[in-house]
Amino acid sequence: MAPCRPGGLDMSTAGTDRRGVDTPTLRQVLRFGAKTLQLVWGTNRRLTAAVGIITLAVALLPALATYLSKLIVDGVLDAVASGLPADRTAVIMWVAAEAVVLTSLLGSRRVLRLTKSLLHAELGYGVSRAILDKSLALELHQLEDPAIQQKILLARQHATSRPFGLVNRLFEQLQYSLTLVAFGALLWTFSPLAVLLVIVGGLPLFVGEVRFSGRVFRFYTGRTPEMRERSYLESLMTSDAAAVERLHYGAGPEIRRRYTALFGKLYDEDRRLQTRRAGAALGLSTLSSVVFFATKAWIVWEAMLAAITLGQMTMFVGLVKQGQGAVTSLLTSAGGMYEDLLYVSNLYEFLEIPESRRPGTSTQGTGPGDGIRLEGVSFTYPAGSRPALDDVTLHIAPGSSIGIVGANGSGKTTLVRLVAGLYRPDSGRILLDGLDIEQWDRGALRARMAVMFQPFTRYKMTAGENVAMGDGLRDSDESRLWRAAEHGLAADLIRELPAGLGTRLSRRFLDGRELSGGQWQRLALARTFMREGSDILILDEPTSAMDAAAEAELMAATRKASPAQTTILISHRLANLRQADRILVLEQGRVVEQGSHDELVDSRGAYQRLFALQAEPYQ
Ligand code: ADP
Repeated sequence: MAPCRPGGLDMSTAGTDRRGVDTPTLRQVLRFGAKTLQLVWGTNRRLTAAVGIITLAVALLPALATYLSKLIVDGVLDAVASGLPADRTAVIMWVAAEAVVLTSLLGSRRVLRLTKSLLHAELGYGVSRAILDKSLALELHQLEDPAIQQKILLARQHATSRPFGLVNRLFEQLQYSLTLVAFGALLWTFSPLAVLLVIVGGLPLFVGEVRFSGRVFRFYTGRTPEMRERSYLESLMTSDAAAVERLHYGAGPEIRRRYTALFGKLYDEDRRLQTRRAGAALGLSTLSSVVFFATKAWIVWEAMLAAITLGQMTMFVGLVKQGQGAVTSLLTSAGGMYEDLLYVSNLYEFLEIPESRRPGTSTQGTGPGDGIRLEGVSFTYPAGSRPALDDVTLHIAPGSSIGIVGANGSGKTTLVRLVAGLYRPDSGRILLDGLDIEQWDRGALRARMAVMFQPFTRYKMTAGENVAMGDGLRDSDESRLWRAAEHGLAADLIRELPAGLGTRLSRRFLDGRELSGGQWQRLALARTFMREGSDILILDEPTSAMDAAAEAELMAATRKASPAQTTILISHRLANLRQADRILVLEQGRVVEQGSHDELVDSRGAYQRLFALQAEPYQ
């Protein structure tokens, strides 16, 4: 869900960048690999054990089948030579045994595929859940950290594929290694040199795979800037959000021209890569074939010299052929592990980010009735060059009404977030009823404050859910939703929706509705009033997208509904702040003036100049 700043659509390119991922050390690689195995085991033990056992069967049955084919050929020769019915029966028994083994092998491969895909799905869900749980446990400043966002993005994109890919490769390597050991043991009886030739014959295709897999990976995972640019251009041409300006400015043809140019460039690279890959594969597989046929000629030669039986010849040739394939598969699987480990490392780095704050436990302050105090509070955003708030000290008594004014970027929104406990001051402290808000239980602190934030979020849910979000989306009865809607000036608009509170608010849904900026703001306001028991109300530009009368109406209704509530109102419409007990003027993160409207006008400072400017057109 993207927060929406009124008046601005974020059409920036979203994507991942490999540069944001640190290369793990060998120790980390081993640790993360072990953790992934634990994760799989923890996800579904029975299924993991089943995959393991079936892998054993799939690994060992081919060698058994090859050995049986030797027994059959040799048995046929013996039966022909002896002419005994008993020998013929024995051969038929071997054929039956081979049939059982091969059928079991086919069946096992199918069941293995099934169990693996089930494990894949379960593991993917488990990993996604871990990512989401971690995300929910992080604080705002952590979630706003671009490096952490990068990790989340990568982890989410590869949640299902990479951890499973890693585990799957481990199972594959177990399978191919066992197959090779069994093949090797049988082939050793012919010659150790033949075993070596199998390994040498399997190498070329692996080398080709590894050389190209890196490039193919870079090309297809869409992390090159061109791929990101291409999907961004696509979204500009198809998204509804970008359509208004695109149509008006007539930018469509130029965007499409750029898209086509990019496509051509990417396709050219793709074609060259694929052609080179196919060429290399052809050359390398020829090399493998040469090794195979040389070994085969040797085996056949030995059979002609009667050094081995015809059955042995059949078996050894089969072993060399399948063995080469197993060597290639084993090495390719090992080669791909590194890439998986990179992603899995990113996942664990994200999951291991410390949750920095231990929440407090107090549910009331040491000085009830003291209100809110800021003592020398300073705060700089991680990427900020200057403090967003600079040594702010103030006291807000319970029941008082405070207005805050200041130019864009003067720190108003930051102040609200600090008071709500979403950021921690770099220095100084914020007290509620005499107790540092760090020591307050999060739930108790939340219950005291009703805050309308800037920017607020437009939830693509029903109108009712947009309001109920103010109480954490818990089941709330309709009368409560309507009360909040009335107070938030949203009742009329909800009544006019086709399904009232149940109307889905998004054009993405067929029966959904879209709202105007001001209407969305009314819903956000209604959401704020869901927190009925709170004694502090903070409104950050609550009616900036509404008509001028709305704010006055809102403030009058608020005063009437809860006269004892502390209210903090941030507004650019100074006329609406006139009634406030005290007005703070912020400039570059500092409180530069404060007092009642009349006092500030008399003192002829920044406030007075601003007020005169706003009053001018009406004089
Ligand atoms: P206001 O609400 O008065 O317009 P803000 O409190 O939003 O001002 O911003 C104060 C300063 O902090 C501005 O210079 C702004 O650029 C910066 N700022 C605001 N939000 C962030 C953020 N999430 N990360 C970095 N800097 C920020």
